Amino acid sequence: MATFSGHGEYGGSARQKSCRTCVDFKTWSKQQKDAMNMSPQGRTNGIPNTGKAKDHGCPLDKDELGNATWAVLHTIAAKYPDQPSNKEKEGMKQFVSLFSQFYPCEHCAEDFRKDLEVHPPRITSHRDFSQWLCEMHNRVNKKLGKPIFDCKLVDERWRDGWRDGSCD
Ligand code: FAD
Repeated sequence: MATFSGHGEYGGSARQKSCRTCVDFKTWSKQQKDAMNMSPQGRTNGIPNTGKAKDHGCPLDKDELGNATWAVLHTIAAKYPDQPSNKEKEGMKQFVSLFSQFYPCEHCAEDFRKDLEVHPPRITSHRDFSQWLCEMHNRVNKKLGKPIFDCKLVDERWRDGWRDGSCD
């Protein structure tokens, strides 16, 4: 019987589910094909490939999930008050902590929790929180070899739109 560790590792029977939110789509797709030993046009788990995915969407892979999640997180930070109440500050701390427990890419969440221990959320103002989040995102960018974002531009990117008016 195959096992799935919950950390994106995969191996074994065709019935086993891989962690799509832990890997990019290409890897996930290959895992599925290897497991099924079938062509992408074939049947999956006995269900004919009807092309419905195109119409109704599919579960997110790691990168789709990450992209959408960063958009939500940065937009939350963009709306975070300049002078949050104690209740808002406490709520944001809890939100970040719960987010790090439940983010559905387990290895991503684990690293994020490690980063949080060293860099706890700065929740005293919009500026502090959005800069903190930008720095957290940049740590992930660095780990993945992606370009580092200039955190001076975070409000233009996520709140006000670019100065050149291209978002107007
Ligand atoms: P994304 O990194 O998703 O960025 C989306 C947009 O945000 C960019 O186009 C840019 O306009 C803007 N942006 C980029 N950097 C910043 C910044 N520093 N501040 C503000 N805006 C910025 N993937 C892994 O493979 N391994 C991991 O360990 C991992 N950990 C993750 C942890 C978390 C908490 C999250 C939310 C995602 C994680 N991901 C991880 C996914 C990864 O960060 C990317 O989302 C994914 O690779 C898709 O990248 P992307 O090129 O679409 O751009």
